[in-house]
Amino acid sequence: MKALQANAEWKPRKGYQPTEREIRDKRAGMGNNLFCHPSLKLVDISVPVPKDDEVLLKVGGAAVCGSDTMFLGADEEDYLYYCGHCRLPVVIGHEFSGEVVQVGKNVKTFRTGDLAVAETMNGCGECAACRAGLVNQCENLEEIGFTLNGGYAEYLVAKEKFCFHVDDLVQVYGSKERALEIAAMVEPTAVAYNGMFVRGGGFLPGGNVAIFGAGPIGLSATSLAKAAGAAKIITFEKEPVRMKLARDVGADHVFDPDELFAAGTSPSEKVLELTGGIGVEMAVEATHHQAETIPEIEQMVSVGGTIAQIGISPVRTPIMSTYLQKKGINYHCSIGSSGHDIWPHVIRLIAGGRIDPGKFLSKCFRLENAIEAIEAAERLEGGKFVITPNW
Ligand SMILES: [Zn+2]
Ligand SMILES: [Zn+2]
Repeated sequence: MKALQANAEWKPRKGYQPTEREIRDKRAGMGNNLFCHPSLKLVDISVPVPKDDEVLLKVGGAAVCGSDTMFLGADEEDYLYYCGHCRLPVVIGHEFSGEVVQVGKNVKTFRTGDLAVAETMNGCGECAACRAGLVNQCENLEEIGFTLNGGYAEYLVAKEKFCFHVDDLVQVYGSKERALEIAAMVEPTAVAYNGMFVRGGGFLPGGNVAIFGAGPIGLSATSLAKAAGAAKIITFEKEPVRMKLARDVGADHVFDPDELFAAGTSPSEKVLELTGGIGVEMAVEATHHQAETIPEIEQMVSVGGTIAQIGISPVRTPIMSTYLQKKGINYHCSIGSSGHDIWPHVIRLIAGGRIDPGKFLSKCFRLENAIEAIEAAERLEGGKFVITPNW
């Protein structure tokens, strides 16, 4: 079968001492420290055979994520850009859906023909973090699309215990194919859900919410804020196409922060003006530019409010902790989307028509054009791009 595979040479960067687990498994906690001469290519590999506790999925959709764009090219020392957990070679694609075409002999809750999605972050269930319920912080984490073969392929396997049914989406979207394209967007929605409602603790209906960034996570956050009863949603984004998409999914106001600064004001002043000086009960940070956003956010969150940190940045963030202390602000940080019953909640929100990720699915691509899709995502040309390897 055809698959888009990331590969590189294992060669610790000068001055970097790999950890015990990194050496033992030839895996990287941060890929950019260890993988040299990276490549991303369509390859021919055999269709995987499901183990006793796994299902074989014929991939319906595999959505392109910002992290996939970091497998393109190399830095000035010819190292991988991707700074997250990975083990190469690997078929990338961690936001996917598919039709079950084969089940292992111990699989009980899925049958051939069922439509499914699978959690990307696969916790071991045994380490201290997993036993504390923090599966996204697992010490022995495996990640589909980073350390296990992912969705940019005609088929992939996933453990039954990480899979969920999405057959209900066919009624909403009219066809199996469209339902699977949308189901590939459960993962990014679940990332936003985890940050806002699980780690972040949510907000009361009638609260105001600010969202920084209208990429797929920020757009998901905007949709979720609307569904959760936010009074006013104020989204900040610089790309015009994404600004429009933010309005489409429920933002009441959308601003380009650069334009505000050019006009002599700022995002925080704008938020305070629009909320009668109260500010927002929750600010969602979903950019790669925390050093710019947090100094604004700390001034706009209301007393007792929450910052939900979801975006990832390679640089340090300046924080005026006194502002946060004086207002009793909670700064909650999250990564990933697994556990906590998040995926079933997201699937029900989509199946119930409360949110519609289809509003920002900009374009579908064939697997042969996967690189083109990833490059389009890198240029921030729209909302979400989805690769459909089997149609
Ligand atoms: Zn992702
Ligand atoms: Zn674990």
